[in-house]
Amino acid sequence: MRFLLSSRLLGKVAVITASTDGIGYGIAERLAKEGAKVVVSSRKQKNVDTAVEKLKAQGLNVVGTTCHVAKKEDRSKLFQLAESTFGGVDILVSNAATNPTMGGVLDCDESAWDKIFETNVKASYLLAKEVLPYLHKRKGGKIIFVSSIAGYNPMNLLGAYSVSKTALLGLTKAAAVQLAKDNINVNCLAPGIVQTKFAEALTSSEFARTEALSHIPLNRFGTPTDMGATVAFLASDDANYITGETIIVAGGMTSKL
Ligand code: NAP
Repeated sequence: MRFLLSSRLLGKVAVITASTDGIGYGIAERLAKEGAKVVVSSRKQKNVDTAVEKLKAQGLNVVGTTCHVAKKEDRSKLFQLAESTFGGVDILVSNAATNPTMGGVLDCDESAWDKIFETNVKASYLLAKEVLPYLHKRKGGKIIFVSSIAGYNPMNLLGAYSVSKTALLGLTKAAAVQLAKDNINVNCLAPGIVQTKFAEALTSSEFARTEALSHIPLNRFGTPTDMGATVAFLASDDANYITGETIIVAGGMTSKL
């Protein structure tokens, strides 16, 4: 039996990258629970199969495919699957990111810099470009990028990654202005520290947890469910008059930076 939290996204089709675990999974689950048909994806078939099985077990309407966001043929496959299975695309959530190195921005070597910008920025840009024909067919839609609080205040040990996330704040604004005439809203989520594999270094040891939590007024880490709730709002008609904005979902962290 299908359990819907709301019917806000009924009739909509959402494509979400890096959605077999962590924040992307939380977004996929929430959008599906609000009635969307969802295409989940990530690089590994095994992860796709597990995520699809878990979501289907809740009665949610999902399909999955492998997609490494830096590969053109994989990105195309995502949208083609959405069209062949669900009849089109209304919502793109570009969530994948990588961080192959730790250190100050000027300590990042060229190959790591290229990898970070290829996955975090260029792939987001290309996904937004490649989804346009599908959104135009629907006469509108929503594009949502996933940045980070580090995009506003670069973190010392995540130098290049932080700068890549700053680029997404600019991409959101520039694309929003260009696509407004096409009835396409472009917005962005900037998570704080969310308890996922990606943030393990900040959340696993007692010392790191205490230090990280001291910067978070709400005194807890974010969850993929918190992130899904905000993205569901941005993907819905409730956000029709919002474009070019980034919502920080970080437990009040910006007040203490
Ligand atoms: P995560 O838990 O490490 O999620 C990893 C997911 O991404 C898995 O489904 C993984 O599956 C997939 N993935 C990894 N590389 C991929 C690629 N190149 N192409 C497609 N899928 C890929 O990460 P997360 O914490 O959920 O982060 C999600 C987003 O939130 C990222 O943009 C990150 O920068 C942002 N963010 C996270 C935090 C945080 O505290 N967690 C804070 C701010 C911003 P496969 O291994 O099968 O590919």
